[in-house]
Amino acid sequence: MHHLDLRRLILLLTIATTLLTFANSFHASYQTLHRQLIAQTLEANRAYAAKLAHSTDAFLKAAQQQLAYSAALLPERLGQTERLDAEVARLKAQTGTFNGVFVVGADGRVQAAAPWGVGLVGSVLQAEGARRALAAREPLISTPYVGLRGHLLVFLSQPIFAPDGRYLGYVGGAIHLGQSDGSLQALLGNHYYQDGSQLYVVDGNRHLLHHQEPSRIGEIVTGNPAVEAVLQGEEGSRRVLDGTGIDMLAGYAPVAGTGWGVVAQRPSAATLAALDGLMLEILLAALPFFIPMLAALWWLSKLIVRPLRQLAITARHWEFASAREQIRRVRAWYFEAEQLKLAMLDGLALLHGKLGRLNQENLTDPLTGLTNRRGLQLALERWQAQRRSFAVIAVDIDHFKQVNDSYGHDIGDRVLQHVSRLLGSVSRSSDLVCRGGGEEFTLLLPETSLEGALQVAERLRGLISHAPSPTGSFVTVSAGVAHWPGSAASVEAVLRLADEALYRAKRGGRNRAVMAGQTEVGSEDVPVG
Ligand code: GH3
Ligand code: MG
Ligand code: MG
Repeated sequence: MHHLDLRRLILLLTIATTLLTFANSFHASYQTLHRQLIAQTLEANRAYAAKLAHSTDAFLKAAQQQLAYSAALLPERLGQTERLDAEVARLKAQTGTFNGVFVVGADGRVQAAAPWGVGLVGSVLQAEGARRALAAREPLISTPYVGLRGHLLVFLSQPIFAPDGRYLGYVGGAIHLGQSDGSLQALLGNHYYQDGSQLYVVDGNRHLLHHQEPSRIGEIVTGNPAVEAVLQGEEGSRRVLDGTGIDMLAGYAPVAGTGWGVVAQRPSAATLAALDGLMLEILLAALPFFIPMLAALWWLSKLIVRPLRQLAITARHWEFASAREQIRRVRAWYFEAEQLKLAMLDGLALLHGKLGRLNQENLTDPLTGLTNRRGLQLALERWQAQRRSFAVIAVDIDHFKQVNDSYGHDIGDRVLQHVSRLLGSVSRSSDLVCRGGGEEFTLLLPETSLEGALQVAERLRGLISHAPSPTGSFVTVSAGVAHWPGSAASVEAVLRLADEALYRAKRGGRNRAVMAGQTEVGSEDVPVG
């Protein structure tokens, strides 16, 4: 059976509070780390995308610059096959930027080409990039397209103008995409991320120009808000669902002047996977504090509850005589326990005091202050239990009725008190003096012989008969003496024998003491009054 006690309550409360507090801070840590991880990843991806966008921009500018340099040299060489061949070969070979270089006349016919040379000279390039370059007559970066030999490529071109401003054609360079020999590919790198991170470049038509999986280059990317944002020319980061529904932390940056955009994104799940490990670490770090704290709580609750518990247990056995000592021994070390302890001690004292008084009232005759018949009975029982021998003196005032009749009841009462005082004055502290009722008294003298008791009775008789009483004259008493167990085996018989002796004393003329078993004892008859 489980009792709900104060200690369990305190433990429950403190442990619950501790756990809740810990759970709360744990949760707060989780939230904070969660936010931080996401914010950091977003920012890292943005910075990475911006760096690659910048590199791509610089790369394209450098490529255009190479073509522009050639375009400036070429007007005077057009028509000179050898010099044109040397120039395209230089462009192709010098930096390795281009996979193919062409010089095309205003009529659209190839004048020189590297690396394909004479095979192409004189033909008209049908590729989209070539046609647009011819039509635009300005520096151009094409959208990606599949070239004559099946390569996906972008085509960069610079127009060639004569010193007088006539359009003479263009010089163009093709850069393969998604190929190991592509210079852009080499620039952007070809890392494969195991955690599902992606890095790609899109053109203005959402074609993939670069992707870590080369097979995807040329695909059209749809449904990724990061792509939409970067194609609006925005640089930044956001948490998005990509085209395939994966929760991604995307950073993005546009490539200036091309309408292209770079996107670097990492799955949120991959980023947050680190969080579980971190939270476990926090939990493990907290444990070494948690266990001693629980032990401390255990111990403290015991300390707090102990005085109350001791008081409570004592209160259950309130009636035991040892209760007071037990309560006094309780170490009440804080206010409430101290107050309870004091209150219990007070209560106990009060209770015992009152019981004592009640006992006193029960066992005492109010007129004389002597023990009453009940008290006599108790003393007899106790002495019998202790096998303590005793003598009995039964005393009766002589002719008391006449006292009442002559002087009134009040004086009679005062005579009773007067005789009581004299009875008390001759008895020892161990003796018991009782008023059995009316004007009859019983004296119990422990460890006193019959003869000793008779002497006491005689002394009493003499004392009373010589002491002036409230009546103004003298009263006398008669007494009967018996002994337990000397006179009889039972206490009742002994009391009866004492009464019989008293009766004989009355018959014998009063103002005398008679022993049980004695027929008559003469005594000087002191005249009354
Ligand atoms: P004896 O010598 O034979 O003992 O004669 P007695 O008159 O003393 O005996 P009895 O028993 O006839 O009378 C006792 C009287 O004691 C009767 C009663 O009026 C009186 N008495 C009993 N109790 C009290 C009391 O409390 N106060 C007073 N004033 N008188 C009492
Ligand atoms: Mg009498
Ligand atoms: Mg009487």
